[in-house]
Amino acid sequence: MTGPSGDGPGGARGSSQRGPARPQPGDGLSPGQAAEIHEALDAERAETLARITALRHEFDGIVDSTALVATDDEHDPEGATIAFERAQLAALLEAAQDHLGDLDEALARLREGRYGTCENCGRPIGAGRLAARPAARTCIACASRQR
Ligand SMILES: [Zn+2]
Repeated sequence: MTGPSGDGPGGARGSSQRGPARPQPGDGLSPGQAAEIHEALDAERAETLARITALRHEFDGIVDSTALVATDDEHDPEGATIAFERAQLAALLEAAQDHLGDLDEALARLREGRYGTCENCGRPIGAGRLAARPAARTCIACASRQR
């Protein structure tokens, strides 16, 4: 253990005093804002999960009643309605699962400090759009261009 010479004033290691001590969660996002976004994403995620569970339940119910109907009468006009309902539920389920994926990705971006940046053009996504759609992956310009 060789000790320091001790001839300096002792301030040698603080050469970069302006460096931020903690990592910033994203461009212009304060830790408070990041926490708020995290909360909004978490809440929407829980909602989406509940919706998926409910839709699956409903879907299974329709499948069950179809089995009963099928043994009863092939020409049952209910069949078409049931097929339509099932297709609708399947589409809703798919959309909800897509949305869940978007929310997971938004949470990951938030963790990595990339939240609020358009995936397509790299520009910041407007605050208003993010408030309405916390899981938005693209800015409004790119979203309207894509469809
Ligand atoms: Zn964009």
